[in-house]
This record gives sequence, structure tokens and C-alpha cells, in this order.
Amino acid sequence: MADFSPTADYVEIRQGVANVCAAFPGSDWRDLDSRRAYPAEFVAALIRAGWLGAMIPEDYGGSGLSLTAAAVILEEIHHQGCNAAACHAQMHTMGTVLRHGSAEQKRRYLPGIADGSLRLQAFGVTEPTSGTDTLALKTTARREGGERVINGQKIWISRAEHSDLMVLLARTTAREQAVSRTDGLSVFLVDMRVKIGKGIELRPIRTMMNHATTEIFFDDLRLPADALVGEEGKGFRYILSG
Ligand SMILES: Cc1cc2nc3c(=O)[nH]c(=O)nc-3n(C[C@H](O)[C@H](O)[C@H](O)COP(=O)(O)OP(=O)(O)OC[C@H]3O[C@@H](n4cnc5c(N)ncnc54)[C@H](O)[C@@H]3O)c2cc1C
Repeated sequence: MADFSPTADYVEIRQGVANVCAAFPGSDWRDLDSRRAYPAEFVAALIRAGWLGAMIPEDYGGSGLSLTAAAVILEEIHHQGCNAAACHAQMHTMGTVLRHGSAEQKRRYLPGIADGSLRLQAFGVTEPTSGTDTLALKTTARREGGERVINGQKIWISRAEHSDLMVLLARTTAREQAVSRTDGLSVFLVDMRVKIGKGIELRPIRTMMNHATTEIFFDDLRLPADALVGEEGKGFRYILSG
């Protein structure tokens, strides 16, 4: 019978993660907290060691590990006294692209996410008037020629200042015109490196814990047609499946 005890398998994973964490003692974390600083070196070290590319298939340069293995990695980070909240999104946010993106999007983005040259750490869903009720979100993506023009606001978008890419959920069909309640939202992959100051403004939010989170304002942010992930209007399902 399979052994499901917490430390049954994964000994090598735990040891490997612990080896990375050993270079980041509690005193470092207390120092980061007192300065409200992001643990950039810690995240880079985890990426270098391959731990944050765990769920990316080997064909795209990741290790193709299971969700359980990924959970063990995050658990071990905390067990070692470090903070996985600074980086967990690099591990799982790419799932939206992996499951629903085109062959070209996967080829273009996944290898870079696996080797750390691209950071996909931001997930833009929550808005000031829609948290739990995601279907009420108001940020729009209007079609203009081949482009999409984004207007609206997100809140509590974590790690956006430390990310190259953001998965963004926006409304492409007005709620009253959508074929069903869950239709009309679409997912976009936003390359923030070229867009900050050109339709995107980030404002850090100070939180009780040291958590790099932000408000994001979109003012006529123009996205190319190939920023759309999967089919238009199906974004709510894609986000839930992630
Ligand atoms: C530190 C931090 C980091 C975050 N990072 C991200 C991020 O990276 N990306 C992102 O998109 N979002 C992020 N979030 C947002 C988070 O997902 C939302 O806070 C969450 O979805 C809840 O939304 P809300 O805060 O608007 O609360 P609300 O939806 O207003 O809920 C408030 C309370 O009411 C309850 N409630 C709501 N609706 C009902 C109902 N119908 N019946 C009964 N009870 C109900 C809720 O359970 C909750 O207790 C972050 C939040 C925090 C605090």
C-alpha cells in the first residue's frame, strides 16, 4: 500500500530545498522584514536550483514534477524558516499558459520561466469591488483593430514589482451580453517589462506582514492580439483550473 505519511517520499526534494534555504537564516528574514524588502536573492537561488520550475514539463526545461512534489517544495521552504509567499506564483501561475496557451506561447514563455530568465510571478484578478465575487470584475479589454485596450484597476496584486509577466483577467463581453454568467472574461499574458508607464501604473500597498503587494491601474494599456490566452470569453474557467 502506498505510504502517504508526510515525509514518506520526497526526501531528496526536501534535502535539496533545505540546502538552498541554509544560506538564508532567520536573521536575514528579520532584516528583510524590518526594511520591508523583497527576498530577491532567495528567489533567485531557488530558481537557479530549479525548484520553481518543478511543474513545468521537461520538454520546456522544467522538471515535470507533480503537484504533490510542488507542495512539498513549498512546505519545506517554510519548514526551513524561509518564506515561500515571495515566490510560489513562479511555480504555479504558468499553469494557465501550459494548459490553455497556444503552442507558440508555450514555446516562447515556458523555457524562460523554467530557467528564471522570465519571472511570471503576478496574477491579476482581484479588484477593489470584486474579491470573492470574481465574476463582478470591472476591468475591461476592448477590441481595437488587432489590439486589446485595457482599462480598470486591480488590487492586492502580489509580486508585480518583481515580475516580468502578469496573468490578467479582464472582461471582454459586458456582463449583460455574455451567453452565461461565467462567460465574457478573458485571460491575457501581459509583458510588464515593456508596459510599465505605458498604460500600467503600480502602487505598492503596505501590509502588516512583509508581502510585496500592489494596486495596479490600467489606463488604455494596449496589448497585442497574441497576448490572449486560449479562447476569448473562457477566462473564468481557465483561472479556476489554475
Ligand atoms: C496579502 C494578500 C495578497 C493577495 N494577492 C493577490 C494576488 O496576487 N492576486 C489577486 O488577484 N488577488 C490577491 N489577493 C486578493 C485575495 O484573493 C482577495 O482578498 C480575496 O479574493 C477576498 O476578496 P476581498 O478581500 O475583496 O474580500 P470579500 O470578497 O469582500 O470578502 C470579505 C469576507 O466576506 C466573505 N464573503 C464574501 N462573499 C460572501 C458570500 N457570498 N457569502 C458569505 N460570505 C461571503 C468572505 O469569505 C470574507 O470573509 C491578495 C490578498 C491579500 C490580503
